[in-house]
Amino acid sequence: MSPRPDLSTRLTQLGEVLVSLASSPIPSHQFQILADFAPHLLPCDYLALCLMDPDEQAYHVHSLYGAEEVGPLRDRYPLEYGLVGEVMATGRIQSLPAFNTTITSAPGLDGVWHAAGLRRILVAPLRQGKRRIGALVVAARPGTLPGEQYDTGDQQIARLLMAGLASTLETARLYQISADERSTLAAVLSSTRDAIIVVNQQGRILLANPAVQEMLHLDPDSLVSRPLAQAVAHPTLQRLFAEGARSVADIALDEGRTAQASLVPVRTDYGEQIGWAAILRDITLLKELEQVKSDFVNTVSHDLKNPISTILLGAELLVQSGPLNKNQRFIQERLINTAGYMEELVTDLLDLGKIEMGLEMEMKPVDAAAMMDAVVGLFRPDAEAAQLSLVFQAPEPAVVVGDQIRLQQAYRNLVGNAIKYTPAGGQVNIQVQVRRRQLPAGEGKPGTGAIYIHIADTGYGIPAEAQPYIFDKFYRVETGATRDIRGTGLGLAITKSIIEAHGGRIWVESSAGSGSTFSISLPAAGELSNS
Ligand code: ADP
Repeated sequence: MSPRPDLSTRLTQLGEVLVSLASSPIPSHQFQILADFAPHLLPCDYLALCLMDPDEQAYHVHSLYGAEEVGPLRDRYPLEYGLVGEVMATGRIQSLPAFNTTITSAPGLDGVWHAAGLRRILVAPLRQGKRRIGALVVAARPGTLPGEQYDTGDQQIARLLMAGLASTLETARLYQISADERSTLAAVLSSTRDAIIVVNQQGRILLANPAVQEMLHLDPDSLVSRPLAQAVAHPTLQRLFAEGARSVADIALDEGRTAQASLVPVRTDYGEQIGWAAILRDITLLKELEQVKSDFVNTVSHDLKNPISTILLGAELLVQSGPLNKNQRFIQERLINTAGYMEELVTDLLDLGKIEMGLEMEMKPVDAAAMMDAVVGLFRPDAEAAQLSLVFQAPEPAVVVGDQIRLQQAYRNLVGNAIKYTPAGGQVNIQVQVRRRQLPAGEGKPGTGAIYIHIADTGYGIPAEAQPYIFDKFYRVETGATRDIRGTGLGLAITKSIIEAHGGRIWVESSAGSGSTFSISLPAAGELSNS
């Protein structure tokens, strides 16, 4: 029996063991370090680490040293079982120089250790704050231990060793959670057919999943840590990342395929933004279907236009064939009304097709305020007939780059609707404003500005549940006072397409019964003077 080294030497050794423990986040490595070094710190013939399994309300005994001399142990023991159970429950270290008292309470565990001749035992709790995790067991046969008992120095070492182990086990647990999350994420990223590219705040690629290979023909591994602007030669994708705003854009791929790219911010759990992710979905099939559908609608509309005009003309000319009786006049009016509605519908459908295809647009600087002034003038007689006051304010020119005919069409739809959906005695208020402040990302270039147009009415309003759909084709609010007002349900869809083709946005604020405000923002043309 050699004497114990002095406490300061053992504390130095303990420090080294703790550093080794902290160097690996893998529990089996930590067990091996304990098995190799703990017997030098705490003289013993047997050493075990007991770890709790909270789900099973039990603990497992991992014999790390001297196991060969000890009889077989069970897989798990009930939580309160034996000396270990007691130490875990109370959180108090136990050092017994004559270990035999608890044999009867735990014949399956304490009894096995006793039967192996172990008589001196030290059991130290392993805790994280107040939470019990397990216990360290060191035991010796008579003749092994100087002084034949674990003294206060041993107890101090055991306590410090358990404190260190508790924190490394916690690190291991967190490491395991994050490793599991990483593997789950990797599995999802590699199985999805959407291509995903994540870029940090400095524009360097953090992650590219395997689908990037198929969609963009780029090796995902070779992209990581390169600047996106150099590594991915797709102008639209580069523009999306450069603008750095939540947005969606179509990207032309090779072989006539199309992907829809959505840019979303990537944030930590604490809300700190660490970069942007672009998710690219192949929408070729959808685009083709959309094309087939709009080709069909365009062809049909085109083929219908002439026959409808003929019917309309014929109905209008009926009077020339002689005086009509009351019944004939009624039929003629219905004919003119229906054919007129069909003509409107066909014209709207053809217009929508052209706007969506970007046809017949001549972009040049135009004054949105002057254009609105002209549209308001056009509607004055209608407003007067409907007993509405029509107020127009535009304090300064508001120049945008756009197609005059289409923009006027958009204004006509909005002003026309405001008049159509406001009962007599109401007001329609139209304002054109120029805003010079720096724009939110995604609305024009910084340093320029935007033109805002607000068309506010005091009319019937739009119920909240209908608002998400009113810009959809053919959607009409078929309830309440507006049900019987004639319309094709295409005006707002056309207006939205026109505004978006000009790089702008349109939105509505409304509540049923108290009016609606339709607003448009359009990028202002060029740098704005500060006047
Ligand atoms: P429509 O030809 O039916 O007017 P729109 O596409 O222009 O078609 O408008 C769609 C629907 O939105 C309309 O049917 C109407 O219910 C509602 N709407 C549009 N503008 C207004 C408004 N200013 N006030 C109330 N409802 C409106």
